[in-house]
Amino acid sequence: MGRALIIGCGGVASVAIHKCCQNSEVFEEIMIASRTKSKCDALKEKLAGGRTKITTAQVDADSTEQLINLINEYKPDVVLNLALPYQDLTIMDACLATKTHYVDTANYEPPETAKFEYKWQWAYREKFKAAGITALLGSGFDPGVTGVFSAHALKHHFDEINYIDILDCNGGDHGYPFATNFNPEINIREVTANGSYWENGQWVETKPMEIKREYSFAEVGQKDMYLLHHEELESLGLNIKGIKRIRFFMTFGQSYLTHLKCLENVGMTSIEPIDFEGKKIIPLQFLKAVLPDPASLGPRTVGKTNIGCIFTGKKDGKEKHYYVYNVCDHQECYREVGSQAVSYTTGVPAMIGAMLVMNGTWQKPGVYNIEEFDPDPFMDALNKWGLPWQEDFNPTMVD
Ligand code: NDP
Repeated sequence: MGRALIIGCGGVASVAIHKCCQNSEVFEEIMIASRTKSKCDALKEKLAGGRTKITTAQVDADSTEQLINLINEYKPDVVLNLALPYQDLTIMDACLATKTHYVDTANYEPPETAKFEYKWQWAYREKFKAAGITALLGSGFDPGVTGVFSAHALKHHFDEINYIDILDCNGGDHGYPFATNFNPEINIREVTANGSYWENGQWVETKPMEIKREYSFAEVGQKDMYLLHHEELESLGLNIKGIKRIRFFMTFGQSYLTHLKCLENVGMTSIEPIDFEGKKIIPLQFLKAVLPDPASLGPRTVGKTNIGCIFTGKKDGKEKHYYVYNVCDHQECYREVGSQAVSYTTGVPAMIGAMLVMNGTWQKPGVYNIEEFDPDPFMDALNKWGLPWQEDFNPTMVD
């Protein structure tokens, strides 16, 4: 049916690329383009023999010019951005210049401050509309599936949704005292920032990890979870009818938190450049270089993830609760695509989002968050492509 250009070749991209190759009827051709071409070539080699035709290229996605040249040469139907959030705008600029659809999994981040907000990408709405191309923002799990779950809940179970709690539980154990499950720089920026939630039309800010709850997760068990700011709170607060409050919780083990506190206390998580032996370095980027590569956690991670949303709202005038979630097994993911479940739960929705944009199901000119599209084809695709969802109409609520 078409060809996709995939930018980035890290943990998430590797899963998305495996999934594109499983879905070769849609992804007849893909190009993997990243900063380090040898990684793209190694993945191509691993996937050789399949029906999807794979090519590779080197690209610096900070350079709009290089991206434009590459897109003009390859002529993809869609660009799937699985590099880092710093590259979102250069890639969107290149898509605009070449009139090519765009899909990503994370909001643009300015390198010098941790923001996790959409304003820079939303500013492209009119330009994308005028160019007649679609930008689908946040097609991972969270953001991503959490937005699709919200649209699904509103479409099929509620007249209005008043409260959403997004619960992201990783019950996996990789055996290291400290490692992050996806890009360490982005992960640590996210968890060391102040927390916040959306209530009655405004943000309520908390200190990092200030709000803690315990929750018993299906197929995982009892875990401590902490309230974090997360980018989808911003778009869901605007796009889901009737919202009064929306919160995001993520589980962390004690060892992770103790290490993180220590690294923070000694200044290793800072994104302020410092002078080191005559060079400017960013402590967090140095820390990333000494931590295990998330892609290497696959073989050693055991256990499951459980990510989902608990909704409270009204149906036919009555209060109603609804919990929809996915459980994913780290070792099953590893056996299937050679990655742990955190990369898997992001890479599968990235492939699905690219598929729906490419095949026209989700095309509308402009810049949209995922919950602005009809959730039904995405919900069906989740069941088909490895992330089946489960429902609970009488969930334990978070106080
Ligand atoms: P990785 O660090 O594993 O991979 C990033 C890839 O991008 C690497 O291949 C890297 O190249 C490449 N890259 C970085 N900078 C450039 C550049 N300037 N030009 C070209 N390529 C570049 O990250 P992950 O796979 O863990 O994460 C990918 C994205 O997914 C991130 O944006 C992350 O925030 C997002 N994410 C979203 C989630 C969700 O649920 N929505 C959950 C988890 C992640 P090199 O190999 O040379 O370093």
